[in-house]
Amino acid sequence: GTLCTLSAKEKKGQLLYKDAKVPVEQRVEDLLSRMTLEEKVLQLNQYTLGRNTNVNNIGEAVKEIPAEIGSLIYFDRTPNLRNHMQKKAVEESRLGIPVLFGYDAIHGFRTIYPISLGQACSWNPELVEQACAVSAQEARMSGVDWTFSPMIDVARDPRWGRVAEGYGEDPYTNGVFAAASVRGYQGDDLSAEDRIAACLKHYVGYGASEAGRDYVYTEISGQTLWDTYLLPYEMGVKAGAATLMSSFNDISGVPGSANHYIMTEVLKERWGHEGFIVSDWGAIEQLKNQGLAATKKEAAMRAFNAGLEMDMMSHAYDRHLQELVEEGKVSMAQIDESVRRVLRLKFRLGLFERPYTPLTTEKERFFRPQSRATAGELAAESMVLLKNANGVLPLTNVKKIAVVGPMAKNGWDLLGSWCGHGKDTDVEMLYNGLAAEFKDKAELRYAAGCKQDGDDRSGFAEAVEAARWSDVVVLCLGEKMTWSGENASRSTIALPTIQEALAVALKEAGKPIVLVLSNGRPLELNRLEPICDAMLEIWQPGINGARPTAGILSGRINPSGKLAITFPYSTGQIPIYYNRRKSGRGHQGFYKDITSDPLYPFGHGLSYTEFTYGAITPSVTTLKRGEKLTVEVVVTNTGSRDGMETVHWFIADPYCSITRPVKELKHFEKQDIKAGESKTFRFDIDPEHDLSFVNGDGKRFLESGEYHILVKDQKMKIELLN
Ligand code: BGC
Repeated sequence: GTLCTLSAKEKKGQLLYKDAKVPVEQRVEDLLSRMTLEEKVLQLNQYTLGRNTNVNNIGEAVKEIPAEIGSLIYFDRTPNLRNHMQKKAVEESRLGIPVLFGYDAIHGFRTIYPISLGQACSWNPELVEQACAVSAQEARMSGVDWTFSPMIDVARDPRWGRVAEGYGEDPYTNGVFAAASVRGYQGDDLSAEDRIAACLKHYVGYGASEAGRDYVYTEISGQTLWDTYLLPYEMGVKAGAATLMSSFNDISGVPGSANHYIMTEVLKERWGHEGFIVSDWGAIEQLKNQGLAATKKEAAMRAFNAGLEMDMMSHAYDRHLQELVEEGKVSMAQIDESVRRVLRLKFRLGLFERPYTPLTTEKERFFRPQSRATAGELAAESMVLLKNANGVLPLTNVKKIAVVGPMAKNGWDLLGSWCGHGKDTDVEMLYNGLAAEFKDKAELRYAAGCKQDGDDRSGFAEAVEAARWSDVVVLCLGEKMTWSGENASRSTIALPTIQEALAVALKEAGKPIVLVLSNGRPLELNRLEPICDAMLEIWQPGINGARPTAGILSGRINPSGKLAITFPYSTGQIPIYYNRRKSGRGHQGFYKDITSDPLYPFGHGLSYTEFTYGAITPSVTTLKRGEKLTVEVVVTNTGSRDGMETVHWFIADPYCSITRPVKELKHFEKQDIKAGESKTFRFDIDPEHDLSFVNGDGKRFLESGEYHILVKDQKMKIELLN
């Protein structure tokens, strides 16, 4: 291409695209018109910065990186290196286009929150929004403009380690939390000093990886693609998500990263998304392994022409796009359109006005008071009381507590995978939380008993002795951080034998056992459940999970979490999830050897108080097309303690031209209800939206006839007239 020459006025720095008062679209066009093909192509690439960087040699680190690079994954937790690189981009490149810095701030940057699967169990999108806002503030002040979060892959196979990273098995739930995260990260103004751009990932279907094995293929019908996997993305895009990340997997034959239908037709043409898609790490190069391209050049062509704007770490676009344009295999118009989308975000983020991140101390940017408080609240609300028999909880009258198990004095694993710049020294350990909670009330005795895996039982005797001494055993079991997350599939979702054996040994002491579980996926608990009097799922709660755990055990906090994912009875039942389609025999199928029911269904979670539901009251029971309807239910706290209740509203369509799920979550709401008080929960039903279904190409249909509205164990019929 030919370089456009700068006028005298422009040389003085009065370029149109540099003028903050000019509308973004005009700035984008102006800048684009000045760019060479080479400069354009570089905008479409992402490399890394700060991995293994020797801080004493910042100059070396940025030397290899072209000043015109579009984006970098930024691994440092101070802005120094960013600013150094940014200076190179802004001062040493011809047009001075700032670099966009991305990072995986997944459930926190430095203040680490519960894993997303736990967050979903809070059913509290406002709290999740607050957590994401803190994450955004810490990240932006550390030199990060963009996070590769939220992950909204519907996941129904808990053998897949990445089940930890999303919001469970339900599409609507994933969509609601997608929108909440986007609001938290992005706010109203991306150029604010404490906001970052969000990235919905992994577009799309990654959660359907066969048998829970990571990085493999999926088999997804058009029907399931639309009603299960695409729905949360549609909701996230509507909420304004700036970017998306393409998935590694193929969707019934066409890899996400080369899929024209999902990236161009659906996302851009139908949904009107104006942001861009970044590939997953090396996903363009992987098209070769997937058999879609013989060479990297061909892979670049396929991905780019399908609508994938940015190449993360394949070095496919930087090496081949220019050549592909020259050969006429990639159009200049599409290059322009892709660059436009990348530049648009840079302008919206205010990078041209504020390319550098001000230097601050860690104290100024991490752990602001609200960040820790939110971490504690979100952890508390994400915890699910699975079982509470014989009135064992709360522990009101105990004097001696044996705190046992490999998770009791373990900070690191409570952080969960993708824990950003979190440190184990930031985490309060469960034992310490219990010690603080029961100070002056009960004496504690600790014994690890065993490690998380292996077969060393030499610590059992000490643990059993502590149990004999105690009034109650608090047994802390769970998974290592590395057992879930990316590339962390497990063939069985049970805890290792050694941990189950410890529980069996403790049972001999004859004292009540309260099991506290920290893990990144649903677990197979059918052998532990009969041994334990109570079971509390605390997930991987992040830095501030110990106090809430202890608070629930002591009764200071009334648990309110409910499962956003089914806990199978055993691994062999997988996949098992509540919104299965109807079968010919009307049931979910039987096994000769085990029950066909899960151990704990979607929505399960106990409280210390009791909630009594009144009858569902509808505004009308018969509607004409175009009319809407409101349903209400009054919930009374008939117990003696204040509490929080989440009402889940489901819809079922008993007869339809296709086989539909037995029921689908369409709305939920959580409210505080004081003891003795009643609260009204309401669901405004728009039939076009809530009673309709999509076909295998996303077309919506609304059929007349009977529909059911379900709340807890109630069912109410309504009729939509022709
Ligand atoms: C993961 C993504 C992540 C990316 C960048 C990939 O391996 O699949 O979820 O955002 O790496 O770290």
